Amino acid sequence: MASRTVKRKSVVTDPVEPMVTPPPLSTDTTFLTKPKIAARSRKRDMPEGLWTKCPSCESLIYDKELDDNLKVCPKCGHHLPIGARERIHSLVETCSFEEMDAEMQSLDILKFTGAASYEAKLAAYKKKSSLLKDAVVTGVGVIGTHRVALGVMDFSFLGGSMGSVVGEKLTRLIETGSSRGLPVIIISTSGGARMYEGMFSLMQMAKTCGALALHGKLGLPYISVLTNPTYAGVIASFATVGDLILAEPAAMIGFAGPRVIKDTTQADLPEGFQTSEFLQEHGLIDAIVPRRDMRARLVYYLDFMMAGRRPA
Ligand SMILES: [Zn+2]
Repeated sequence: MASRTVKRKSVVTDPVEPMVTPPPLSTDTTFLTKPKIAARSRKRDMPEGLWTKCPSCESLIYDKELDDNLKVCPKCGHHLPIGARERIHSLVETCSFEEMDAEMQSLDILKFTGAASYEAKLAAYKKKSSLLKDAVVTGVGVIGTHRVALGVMDFSFLGGSMGSVVGEKLTRLIETGSSRGLPVIIISTSGGARMYEGMFSLMQMAKTCGALALHGKLGLPYISVLTNPTYAGVIASFATVGDLILAEPAAMIGFAGPRVIKDTTQADLPEGFQTSEFLQEHGLIDAIVPRRDMRARLVYYLDFMMAGRRPA
């Protein structure tokens, strides 16, 4: 028995010996780990927010190029969201914008608490953007040669929802337009009425439309511009009662969302349903205007609509 095991040992050790020397194995592992470290450090070196991926064509766009192009993808023309202040800057003459009610802020009248309290949400959004106190910026500015009452909504503040402050600021804007003989332009983007304010936010629909009706009686124009997305309580009130209704390309516009409609009607929705192109074809929208052309087109329309009036 003993002699057999000795024989086996000698047979086994001979071929194993050359394989025991491990240098090639260890160089393999260092070679494998090195690029991993390099990749990590490269990621750390690249500053965040320098590039944006276009959600439509998926190309990487240098942020400065995107800003210079008013947040429109230079490759495919997709319109990315733009802040209210950036948009105002792109439309009015330099230093001509006088903001109104800049300090008006929402209150938690109903003491609403869902997943988080309304008060906490308001505080978080105000902290996130020091430039916004609520979802709309209003004021009087000059576009071309026309002084206009301009209101611009911002989706980044609580989904551009319309609460008491949005409604009140827009109503005061329209009333200022009426009393000073100015055309009113409102650029909308909104998820609808602000549920945290319940009935108070729904009442803004009637209030804004009432002010616009008086504005119309004075023979003064109101241009509504719809951008992606504009929905629910906003589309059911001031956004669709414009003398002229414009929209940005491929903007989603509607009352209820397409999924809700599909589930309710149990029918397939037509192609392009609720896009600005579809709604222009069906008569809701007068013209689709790309963001980069918006200023020039507004001047063109205002020249026509304000013809024969003394400049305000
Ligand atoms: Zn693109």
